[in-house]
Amino acid sequence: MNTKQIWAEVQDNHRKMRTCKRHRFAHKTVTLGQKINCLECGAYMHLTDIGQYIAGYVAAGGGAADIWPAYEATGGAVESERYGDSA
Ligand SMILES: [Zn+2]
Repeated sequence: MNTKQIWAEVQDNHRKMRTCKRHRFAHKTVTLGQKINCLECGAYMHLTDIGQYIAGYVAAGGGAADIWPAYEATGGAVESERYGDSA
């Protein structure tokens, strides 16, 4: 994939993310650095971004499970990535 193709893919992903009404994820387990696709829009997001998205959703009165039912179970992985912990 050349630079132009990568850039086009990044722009396409951002367009999907912006137009999505509500991201939803269904992964049961995650690996550090893994990109996860939204079930609604198909855009991929990093764990840290999803964690921030869910934090914002919860702050606005929503429930984390509405976005990602297994979020609590994957919380450890999200924290590890956030702080750069390789464990
Ligand atoms: Zn989405």
